[in-house]
Amino acid sequence: MGSEETVVYQEPAPLLEKENALESMMTRFDRAAEILNLESGVYEYLKTPVKQIIVSIPIQMDNGKIEIFEGYRVIHNDILGPSKGGIRFTPDITLDEVRALAAWMTWKCAVVNIPFGGAKGGVKCDPTKLTTVELEKITRRYTANLLDIIGPERDIPAPDINTNEQVMAWIMDTYSMHVKRTETAVVTGKPLILGGSLGRREATGRGCMVVTLGAMERLGMKPKGTNVVVQGFGNVGSVTARLLNEQGCTVIGISDITGAYYNPKGFDVDKAIEHAQKNKDLAGLPYGEKISPTEFLELECDVLVPAARENQITARNASRIKAKIICEGANGPTTAPADPILQDKGIVVIPDILANAGGVTVSYFEWVQDRVGYFWSIEKVNRRLDDMMRSAFNAVYEASERYNVSLRLAAYIIAIDKVARTLLLRGIYG
Ligand code: NAD
Repeated sequence: MGSEETVVYQEPAPLLEKENALESMMTRFDRAAEILNLESGVYEYLKTPVKQIIVSIPIQMDNGKIEIFEGYRVIHNDILGPSKGGIRFTPDITLDEVRALAAWMTWKCAVVNIPFGGAKGGVKCDPTKLTTVELEKITRRYTANLLDIIGPERDIPAPDINTNEQVMAWIMDTYSMHVKRTETAVVTGKPLILGGSLGRREATGRGCMVVTLGAMERLGMKPKGTNVVVQGFGNVGSVTARLLNEQGCTVIGISDITGAYYNPKGFDVDKAIEHAQKNKDLAGLPYGEKISPTEFLELECDVLVPAARENQITARNASRIKAKIICEGANGPTTAPADPILQDKGIVVIPDILANAGGVTVSYFEWVQDRVGYFWSIEKVNRRLDDMMRSAFNAVYEASERYNVSLRLAAYIIAIDKVARTLLLRGIYG
């Protein structure tokens, strides 16, 4: 795929911290495009979203007044198949953010080899200030506005920040009312009773466990004697901690927004989960010593799992990270300027687009089951998820050796190469 006109990568100023997770992603995209010698036309094609939709959502609020909300849906790429990506309801959402998150989904789906393109969407609103009735109206009107865009063979939404199984159920119902049949495959992340998949809730943490074990094996590390620190104790963090613990690892650090806890002998993860479920968070956890969030990330450990939010490992603290492996459960926890610092220290970073792809993989399984109308056992879901995550990890690891680059860059190389080659085979229509 070479040409005279290829993409030239520009190194970011080393100490100029790029805290915009999305800019960080584009830095890696550009670097991979340069290694692939991507033709500039293909580069531009892959950077440019296929569709960007802004819709107005007028709602009669509970107090009788009409308010107008703004909704977005961006389909970044649909070369590999229907586009897939979450919907978030946040007050500060921007089209730019949605555009970049949609691109992220394209690479994530390509890395784990599922036949989906990338998309993302959202509505500018603050769900904490809305009643359930208002939230349902917003969801239904947003869905109705996107009827020509979404669909099981076109674009398939899923939950993201501040949206959940109930919101997915409303989307499914609204779409079904318009097409005059029950169409469960139009969204994933639905309640089980409405065509959701077993194993979806645990899928992201399970995927993190599989790729972490894969990296440990390559480094000759055994679960017994491996100390793990997990930042964030929500869906991804708590499941990853529990499953790594079940494999024999010792979880010596857990944290959430309320505080960070250290126990050199290892936490009983089930008890910590019970505490978090009962109290809504980890505050007052009686099983370890409370330490500062800064100390927490810099703990002496073998595996660090940032599973909370973006921009946690930056050029400011990367040199003090002591883990041998970082498994990025969260999206964008490491900024681009931190990458070379971690690499110089010999830390193996399993990148977000691979590490947390278990969620979209089981969303794919949900879509398949809905379309076939036949549902799998939890054993089948987990076995297939494990196989896909293991294959993706091995492919990324082998590419990192072949190109002599980090796992992150290798993951981008695999993803971009796959989408670019598919594009060239399909050809440019027009
Ligand atoms: P969640 O809301 O269930 O949990 C987030 C956790 O992070 C909570 O325990 C919260 O207290 C904690 N947290 C927030 N800020 C923190 C901070 N500054 N320090 C320490 N802890 C903090 O969310 P989740 O679904 O577990 O998602 C976590 C991350 O994983 C996000 O980046 C999300 O985009 C990503 N992700 C999630 C999925 C999924 O299937 N849930 C899939 C792919 C990626």
